[in-house]
Amino acid sequence: MGSRTAIPREELSHPGPTMTVTEEKTAAEPLPDPTSTRATAERAWPLDHPRAINDVLALLDSTWLSPKTRARPTHYDVAVSVVCNIKCPFCPRQTFGDEVVSGLMKEEHYNPIVPHLEVSQRTGLYGLGEPFLNKRFFPFLRAAKERGTYCMTSSHGMTLNKAMIGRVIESELDELCISIDGATPRTFAYLRSGADFHTVVRNVSELLRRRNEAGKRAPRVHIACAVSKYNVWQMKAMVRLTHEMGADKLAFSNLVLDHKEHAHASVAGTRIFRFNLRRAMREADRLGLECVYFYQKPFPWREEQAPPPRGGVRYGCPSAWRQLIVERDGNLKPCCYLDTSLGNSAERPMEEQFNSGAAVDLRRSFTEGNYLEACKGCGQFTQIDGERTREILDEASERIREGNFSGPVREKLRAELEEFERLAASASV
Ligand code: SF4
Repeated sequence: MGSRTAIPREELSHPGPTMTVTEEKTAAEPLPDPTSTRATAERAWPLDHPRAINDVLALLDSTWLSPKTRARPTHYDVAVSVVCNIKCPFCPRQTFGDEVVSGLMKEEHYNPIVPHLEVSQRTGLYGLGEPFLNKRFFPFLRAAKERGTYCMTSSHGMTLNKAMIGRVIESELDELCISIDGATPRTFAYLRSGADFHTVVRNVSELLRRRNEAGKRAPRVHIACAVSKYNVWQMKAMVRLTHEMGADKLAFSNLVLDHKEHAHASVAGTRIFRFNLRRAMREADRLGLECVYFYQKPFPWREEQAPPPRGGVRYGCPSAWRQLIVERDGNLKPCCYLDTSLGNSAERPMEEQFNSGAAVDLRRSFTEGNYLEACKGCGQFTQIDGERTREILDEASERIREGNFSGPVREKLRAELEEFERLAASASV
């Protein structure tokens, strides 16, 4: 069973249905393809804007040719809350409760990352818990938005009472993910134990109604559903429910099972899963609803095979090269699957930590083909070939030529590009 931690009431923004706190694992969608920086390229930036410069460097980093990054992170997941007031049965807290320390992020760990958000393309404010329980959530969000980053968060939906809905709509939150793992009250009650199906559906519907009434398009609301044997036959019904609530998108993923004893719950890769996914996708097409599936390694404890070396192909991971996880105590990590610490946000300067020995060693494990066990079979573990490398370098060249850069900055970027051209030539892919 999950451990219990007393969080001072004055730090909580919302009492919630119970005051027993546990944690839930929040599934974040994987990072988009490196070409996601194209949106930046198409924007008219002021001269030498840090974001425009960083995105060119991030594009070069996306070749995974160098274990040392030139760009600052373009994606952040910041654990503003490691407190939850529901108890999902497959949450790591229920199996590894003693290893997780609950708490709410404080300014001393959040403030040091704020200046870096000026180059972040996407900043997730959630962590292993319910973000709206942290009374600092909206000040944190405001600080991030002042740096011009796209912000999203993920909620269990029980905290969205009338007042909270008003605050969310008034805020500049770009995207809100609500986890709903069942299309019926019974399934939901099991998989989201402690939350109430009707309350969450009502809250989400109300949020969307008030957002639309206010003539706003943000926050964009998407529903997340982690698929297991308990809800696999409800995937089509999940599409209908999402559509009925008026949400903008439905994202399926497979349930991640941290403990061997729970392996029976997985349907990842089965015919039943594929059949239901196809049915759900067809229904989403019919209703005009955006619906996606993203793969997550279902059994983190299982040993997987590394891909055999293939001529002309290298392997890497967007999380290792472009992302930073900031835990609630400021601990910095490359992704939520590894315990590797890159440093702490309270230590300065943060740039150095992104290229700390541990960070470079992790990237080197890809460039040298000595993959970590956790990386083998991970959904983020991806390949790149010579053709794609050429495309990225050509695109970087075009951006350096067309971007609004002063002479000295353009020269510096050109020098970096030349270095990557040399690395590509010596990697011969
Ligand atoms: S476990 Fe490895 S491959 Fe997976 S996200 Fe983390 S660094 Fe990337």
